[in-house]
Amino acid sequence: MTEIIETDVVVVGGGPCGSTVSTLVAQQGHRVVLLEKERFPRYQIGESLLPSTVQGICRLLGVSDKLDAAGFPLKRGGTFRWGANPEPWTFAFGISPKFAGTASTAYQVERMKFDQILLENAKEHGVDVREEHAVTDVVEEGGRVVGVKCTDADGVRREIRARYVVDASGNTSRIHTRVGGKRQYSEFFRNIALFGYFTGGKRMPAPVSGNILAVAFESGWFWYIPLSDELTSVGVVLHPDALERIRGDRERALLDLIAECPMIADYLSDAERVTSGPYGEIRVRKDYSYIQEKFWRPGLVLAGDAACFIDPVFSSGVHLATYSGLLAARSLNTALRGTDDADETALFEEFELRYRQEYARFHDFLVAFYDKHSDEQSYFWKAKKVTGSAASEVQSFVDLVGGGSSDERALVDAGSYLDRRDGEIDDMIWAVAEAGARIQVQAATGSTEDEQVPIRAGGLVPSTDGLHWSLPGRTAA
Ligand code: FAD
Repeated sequence: MTEIIETDVVVVGGGPCGSTVSTLVAQQGHRVVLLEKERFPRYQIGESLLPSTVQGICRLLGVSDKLDAAGFPLKRGGTFRWGANPEPWTFAFGISPKFAGTASTAYQVERMKFDQILLENAKEHGVDVREEHAVTDVVEEGGRVVGVKCTDADGVRREIRARYVVDASGNTSRIHTRVGGKRQYSEFFRNIALFGYFTGGKRMPAPVSGNILAVAFESGWFWYIPLSDELTSVGVVLHPDALERIRGDRERALLDLIAECPMIADYLSDAERVTSGPYGEIRVRKDYSYIQEKFWRPGLVLAGDAACFIDPVFSSGVHLATYSGLLAARSLNTALRGTDDADETALFEEFELRYRQEYARFHDFLVAFYDKHSDEQSYFWKAKKVTGSAASEVQSFVDLVGGGSSDERALVDAGSYLDRRDGEIDDMIWAVAEAGARIQVQAATGSTEDEQVPIRAGGLVPSTDGLHWSLPGRTAA
């Protein structure tokens, strides 16, 4: 007989998206079960993070100290040999006032370690995490999703019934189709990635030694990500017509491609490929650029890669995964608490609209960035255009690729939420101080956005604790 478990929210997948949404819902005292099919640590690609994740969402999750203690390399920005300029060019997150001070850095992470820290943190916040539980389908009743079916490592089947199901199971999701509509694959981004790991690769000089290095060449472009003093993640993103080249011996193909790209060949001239353990395999990923037609239906929400992913360049994946986790958590928390301000449709439409808007900013910018005949000035101009920012072109670019162009305080100034939540500031004082701080930030950054103005007529805004939606003008969560 199938065991039945009742909860408020069941989250499928324990990657950054699943850990984020489950922690932020459990922090509000709701019951959350998270089902993860693997036993952690497990391998995942997506190692270069943005400040919006590290300094924004991770602070809301209460996991910053553990990340600091893990000793991940500090990423201050990116270095690109890309476009018409034959010389490498570098940007630093710190040039934008939005990422002033400590918020101007991110990390390069081994995802086995990063994802485990986030999952452990979810457990510490009361999430009932069940590893080696593979979700096989959703349970539907009366047109609503009311739970999922899963099987554990011993073959025991369970049904987890919940008011809401979050699909955060990534690109291999088995249940995303149950939301309705199709996963639409990009006509533009049809690239293939081939990647492996090396020890002993060169480093750029300080202070940019932790930067991601991206180098374009004839067949595509390379990423070069320092994961520790010794270990480097090296991957090549190829045009779709290069598929034949990687069909046979992957190691030969990767080494041949490295030889075709003088800068990467030089950085790896004294390096050795890792050939054993989780980093020993040379992996291929393709068909990774897609967007689901719908992101939610009653009882079911898609977040992270389960809903969409664009392309590895500029490392937007974990940012979109964690930010969508926050957006979904706001809708779930508000729906579970109950509110007269908005019905379920309004709450989840707000989630979907904002997630699509962030996706679209990166998508439209990245399409222009793949025009390798342009120079960096035109890329900066394009960033200003897609974000509609009043800031300078270069700052608009840095704000976008740092994950801060939406002007969400949770992404660029998470500390102010924490002060408010810890009860150090009462509602009225907070509202006044917040408005003053906003004006200062807008003056410094040239931003015209205001988080307290809805992004569509009749829309909702983040509550003062950042973890719910409310009507504009409300001071309390
Ligand atoms: P995932 O990290 O995929 O986590 C999903 C989890 O769900 C997994 O643990 C999986 O085991 C579990 N799961 C799957 N099916 C089930 C099931 N049926 N039942 C239970 N659990 C299940 N992003 C960056 O930010 N920086 C980068 O540098 C970067 N580089 C990339 C390079 C390449 C080539 C590609 C393809 C992507 C890259 N990304 C990068 C994107 C990044 O990998 C993803 O965006 C990110 O991992 C998404 O997080 P997630 O939590 O949504 O999904």
